[in-house]
Amino acid sequence: MSGDLNGTEPARGGVPPIVEGKGFPQPGGGYSVRESTRAKRVILRVLPHGRLEVVVPNGFDRDKLPAIVLEHAQWIEKAVGRMASRGGGSTAAFSVFPPEVHLRAVGLCLGVRLIPTGDRTLRLSQRGEDQLELTGKCTDTGACILLLRRWLRHQGRLHLIPWLENTAGRLGMSFRTAQIRSQKTRWGSCSSRGTISLNDCLLFLPRELVCYIMVHELCHTRYLNHSQSFWRLVASHAPDFQVLDARMKEGRRFVPSWAGGEGK
Ligand SMILES: [Zn+2]
Repeated sequence: MSGDLNGTEPARGGVPPIVEGKGFPQPGGGYSVRESTRAKRVILRVLPHGRLEVVVPNGFDRDKLPAIVLEHAQWIEKAVGRMASRGGGSTAAFSVFPPEVHLRAVGLCLGVRLIPTGDRTLRLSQRGEDQLELTGKCTDTGACILLLRRWLRHQGRLHLIPWLENTAGRLGMSFRTAQIRSQKTRWGSCSSRGTISLNDCLLFLPRELVCYIMVHELCHTRYLNHSQSFWRLVASHAPDFQVLDARMKEGRRFVPSWAGGEGK
């Protein structure tokens, strides 16, 4: 995009410009970087005096920052402008999407490209197996999240249901129907009528954990409880079920905040 900030009117009221000269953006020059254990994604913060601070999760690859800042140059410019016109004020913050969506369970990693246009609407399209494009009003974070979540649910139907059918066949078990949902608190469930629901966020988890959840829910088609008989059946299909069940407690940390993970 043609989004460098050269030529921006110097901010009024003594607010220092974020960008000076060519080569924008330069770490340590145009903006400061702060690592935060609590940050789940990159956050751009325009501080009261018009300086840009970039907050990154621990261990985030800083080489990716120039592209991220450049991608959001328009938003930064506007936020600085608004602040200057008010003579300072409160901090403006913008949560940046992770530059990629990593569906560990199915071995897919897709880059997310934001293509801001003058459109009032927003569109999500997938290019091949490794690229997602959000085109249009990319500044509308809520709309971006909604589209990404809808895409995620579609991926769930595409990958998780055939996988469940396959697992059931392999184990000699059956279920009536399966559905993909976006539950906040459950990875999966099984109704008394034999309907298995799987959480689309399972796609972010390591493969073996997803296998375990499938075995667990399939065993619920026989026992709708967590009785000893139920666990015996689980153990017969997944001998290391105790380790896997314990690891599920950490499962949420694989889920990015836009999809309902921690830090949301
Ligand atoms: Zn259960």
